[in-house]
Amino acid sequence: MPINTINTILSGVKSATDIGQLLVEAHSSYDKAQLKIEIEKLVDTLHDVKKQTRALEDELYEKDREIKRLNEKLEQKSKAKVTIIGQFAYTNNPEGIPVGQAYCASCYENDEALKSFAIVNTIAACSKCKCTVHFMEAKRIMTPELFESIKAEHSHIIKQL
Ligand SMILES: [Zn+2]
Repeated sequence: MPINTINTILSGVKSATDIGQLLVEAHSSYDKAQLKIEIEKLVDTLHDVKKQTRALEDELYEKDREIKRLNEKLEQKSKAKVTIIGQFAYTNNPEGIPVGQAYCASCYENDEALKSFAIVNTIAACSKCKCTVHFMEAKRIMTPELFESIKAEHSHIIKQL
C-alpha cells in the first residue's frame, strides 16, 4: 500500500532531520568518532528513504497502468458495437449507429455470433439457429435514416449492446 510506504518514508525523513538537528546543535563536546557515527546513521537513513521512494514510484507506476487499463475497458464498453432491433442484430458504425445487413439477434444474444439469414423465396432462416423471420425484414439494409424512423416509432424493440 502506498500509504504504508509514505509513512515509512516520512518517519525516515524525521529520523534524518532529528540526526541533522543533533549535529547542528552539537558543539565541541562532540568528538570526531561520535560525529562519524551520527553521520553514518544519517546516511543510512537517507539511503532507506531513497529505497522506499523508489518502491513508492514503482507502486504508483503500477496504479497508473491499472487506471489506464480500466479506463480503456470502460471506453470499450460504453461504445456499443451492435444494436438489436427486434429479431435482428446490426453492427454499429463508428458513431454507434446500426448500419448494413441484418444478422440473427438470438444468435448474437446467445454467443455474440453474427449469423446472416438464408433467404429462399419468402422464407428467411438463420444460417445457424434456423429461426425464421420475415424475409423482407431480413433483406433490409439498415441506414441511419431508417434507424431514426424505427427509433421514433418502435424504440422499445431497440437494444444497444
Ligand atoms: Zn440464429
